[in-house]
Amino acid sequence: MVIESEVEITLPSPRLAAGSLVPGRYLYAGSAKGAGGMRARVQRHLRPKKSLHWHVDYLTRKGRITGVALLPGGDECQIVSGLLRQADIAAPIPGFGSSDCRQCVSHLLTLPRHFDPGYFFMTYFSELRPLVLAEERGGQN
Ligand SMILES: [Zn+2]
Repeated sequence: MVIESEVEITLPSPRLAAGSLVPGRYLYAGSAKGAGGMRARVQRHLRPKKSLHWHVDYLTRKGRITGVALLPGGDECQIVSGLLRQADIAAPIPGFGSSDCRQCVSHLLTLPRHFDPGYFFMTYFSELRPLVLAEERGGQN
């Protein structure tokens, strides 16, 4: 899920991964294991008003979701490790969205402007037949 934010976002609770996110473009890799699966989870992320349950809720509340890629049978940790091998991608807040994960530094990554996440998913995860829902490209006319 690609999220763009024009404002700085501070994670308020000391129980959450601490820190703040500067305005920019981010990719959050999540799973949808609960009732309703991916569809319900994405719909929840897209709702502007929701209870702040996950770290990413703080970001989606103030930022704008500009793209979603669905990877049926995929694994969010695989996405993170694949992306971290790409140039200029970093984890801004260690532990963000990955409290239960022993493998990843974070499930939230910064995405540089030039990086095309749709292309990444279609090539890196082609065997999973990713469904990439169009990313609206800011700044392009
Ligand atoms: Zn992980």
